This record gives sequence, structure tokens and C-alpha cells, in this order.
Amino acid sequence: MSRTYRKIFSLLSLPALALLAGCSTNPATGDQNFTAFMSESQEIKIGQQEHPKILKTHNGVYEDAALLRYVNRVGNLLASHSELPELKFHFTVLNDDIVNAFALPGGYIYISRGLLSLAENEAEVAGVLAHEIGHVTARHTAQRYSQAMATNFGLAVLGAVVGSQAVSQVAGLGAQAWLQSYSRGHEMEADQLAVRYMARAGYSPKGMATFFKKLEQQKKLQSLMAGKSGKEEYGLMSTHPRTSDRINQAIKLAESKGAIPGARLGRNDYLNIVDGMIYGDDPKQGIRKGRDFIHPDLNFKFTVPPKFNLFNGSSQVLARGPDQSVIIFDRADPKLDLRDTPMTVYIRDFWVPRLKIAGPERLEVNGMEAATATATINADGGKRNVRLVALRHPNAVYRFAFLTPPKVTSVFDTEFRRTTYSFNTLTDRERRSAQPLRIGIIKVGKNDTPQSLSRTLPFEERKLEWFELINKNLSHRDLQSGDRVKVIVH
Ligand code: ZN
Repeated sequence: MSRTYRKIFSLLSLPALALLAGCSTNPATGDQNFTAFMSESQEIKIGQQEHPKILKTHNGVYEDAALLRYVNRVGNLLASHSELPELKFHFTVLNDDIVNAFALPGGYIYISRGLLSLAENEAEVAGVLAHEIGHVTARHTAQRYSQAMATNFGLAVLGAVVGSQAVSQVAGLGAQAWLQSYSRGHEMEADQLAVRYMARAGYSPKGMATFFKKLEQQKKLQSLMAGKSGKEEYGLMSTHPRTSDRINQAIKLAESKGAIPGARLGRNDYLNIVDGMIYGDDPKQGIRKGRDFIHPDLNFKFTVPPKFNLFNGSSQVLARGPDQSVIIFDRADPKLDLRDTPMTVYIRDFWVPRLKIAGPERLEVNGMEAATATATINADGGKRNVRLVALRHPNAVYRFAFLTPPKVTSVFDTEFRRTTYSFNTLTDRERRSAQPLRIGIIKVGKNDTPQSLSRTLPFEERKLEWFELINKNLSHRDLQSGDRVKVIVH
């Protein structure tokens, strides 16, 4: 049995079993569902199985015991007011700077560090968690999971980022059901449930609306800076397609059904807990500085060409450039002992043994042994030329794959060569300077203005807009001396 077939087969057996159970009542919505649902214990089993994979593909847990306790306390409070108060929920903070939140069947809920750095009170975070709890209790996660797996249809992180399923297959990533977007109906249902749980737990449901506005603002600001359209391929906005209007509708509807909104925003508690949290890249995963990628722990750096945007994944670094050009950087399988294997042999016999290549050719890059070869592959968007480069760093073998549509390959030739030769070990000074940015909470002084406070932010441009974004609750009035605000510090 082929690997794919076995995978589909084993997953298909779950919904098939569930079908025997027939019609079931949805605990949160009260609807009679005749979907190929799984039982609660099957949902929990899937959550347990997928949890370690999620951690692996989303940079792992953000190790801050107090923050994890806090998020679990807020999440469990909301869950205790849901239709599944007996279900054991698991809330995880991912060490990921992309603004994201999602849920797996069985009560596994994830929220990213990037999302927490954008929020500014407990009610905003509660709104996100309650919405995800709603997807679990209304069993959207389970429905989506069975559908995605049964048809083997799903978006991979990488595919979403580079815009090509084929590239993600080359890089070896599979279907990820939780990255698909929910339907409009499911989103409205999750919002209505979220307002219900928030009201019961004493939170102001306005947190949901204000955080959504923030997301819209952030998206706008980011695309202004990147000079791109506001289309986001990956993150909260793409998996949870919502609008301000619909969120406000959900709040009104819940109130008309007798949900009495609480008033709790929890701003001070929240600011205390995020004080000192890492903002942006964690040096443990490597740091992006403009076009440079620096990894202080693994002791290397490289620079991508102008107009290439770096994306730091868990097992790959990706850079997407103009004309569908893509650079994938990663490490050779650490289980291979390559000490006595020339890099030319590594490319030919280990990396791409089934690919017809031109070369390989031996190179030397900053004193390191290296090799390169070229090939042509078929991708979704048509043919791609691939230049492969393998480098023997003192600690591991690293590799670049440069992909371009054939008609632009020669255009990028020189730039890709520059990127290859920019790969180097770090000087002590470079290693020391690779420190993370952190969220800082400060008290506004007598002479401070948004302008003066924003000047310290480590952004290249639009500092005032960034300051207002992370401190949105203050923007409706003037800053008062003694107010607490978020800044970003070294
Ligand atoms: Zn949603």
C-alpha cells in the first residue's frame, strides 16, 4: 500500500465508524446534524494525535509559565460556561509571531505570541479564545477535519506562503485541516457562541469587536509597509473570514436573546502579564533583520536579494521574491552521517536521487566546502528551474533551493549567487547583537506625547501608526500622565 493511500485509508475509517451512529444533536447549536461526525472520544483522540505535530510546525510552545497559566485560566473560565463544561480544554501559547489562533477537535486551542502582543486587554484575548471554543463546541473543527481528511484537501503552511501546493510537496509538508478557512455560517455561529460565553464569564463582548478592528488595522499597516495588496495568505484573518458588521450583529443578537454583557476588560492584569514578552522573532528560531537572516544558536547568517520577503518557518526559512521566485533554506537530515560525503555526492545521491540534474559542481563558500546543481521540476504554476546549493557548515549541512520560472531564471542568477556567498558563520559581535525585541509597559510622563513615545519603536517607518495600533484603547482620548502604555524595547 502506498503511503498516501494508507494515510487516506486510516483516516477514512474514522468518519465511516461515526456514520453508524447516525443523527446526532449538536451540543452548542441544538441542531440535528447528519454529518459524518465523530464521537467526542474520537475527537479527543485526534486532538491528542495532532497536538505534537502542531507544536512542530508552529515553532513550539512559548515558554513563559505565568503567561501559560494566565491564558489557561481565562480559557477555562470561558469553557466552563460553554455547552461542554466537562470537556478538558488545552490552551497553548505558540512561540510564533504571526497573529494566529485556531482549534483542533477535542478542545485543543492555540493562540500565538504575535496575537498576544497585539491585544491590549483580557477581554480581547477572551474574545479570541471564546470564538475558538465556539468552533469546538459547535463541532465545526470535527466536521472540517473529517471533510479535509476524507478528500485529502488542505492547505499547507508553506503552500499558503509561497502560493503553490507543489512547492509545499517538494518541501514535504502534508495537508493541514486547521489552516482551511471556516464557512461564513460557521464564523457567525462561533461569534454568537463567543458572545454568550463572554457574557456568562463577565467579560465585555466589545473586546471581540475592538480586537477585530485592530486586526484590520494591522493588516492595512503591514501591507502599506510591504507595498503589497492587503491580501493575507496565512493567519487569523484567512482562516476566520469575518467582518466588523457580522461581529456587531452577533453581539446584538446575543443581547436580544438575553445575554447580559459583563463589563470586565482586564486591561491592567493583561498589561502586567505581557510585560517583557518577546516581540517578533525569537533568537532561538533565528532573527530576521530586513533582508538578513541571523541564527545566533546555530551560528550562521545569510542575506536574500532585494524585494525578497523572509518567512521564518519551523523547519525552513523561506523568501518569496518577484515573478514567483522563491528561496527555500533548510538543513540536511541530521540523522545522516555526512562527515565523509563530499557535498557533490550529497546532492546527487542523498538530496535529490530521483531528479535529473545538471552538475553537481564543487564550490567553496567563505572557507566552507559546498556544491551546486540545477534541475527542472513541474509545479502547479508550470515549470520551475531549481538551483540547489549544499554547504558544509561546521555544525551541519545547510541547503538552499532557488526556484524560478524559466523565463526569469537568468535575471536572478547574480542575486542568487550573492545569497549563496553571503552564507557565513557569525562574528562574536553579530551573535551578541542578535537580541530579541520585547514588549515593555511604561507609565506616561508629563511631557510624553504619542509622537515622542513612538519614536523609540524599532520600526523603519510609520512609528506613530504602530504605537497607536498596539495602544488602540487610548486613541479615543489624549494621553494622560500616569497612563500605562505598551512600547517595544531591545
Ligand atoms: Zn472562526
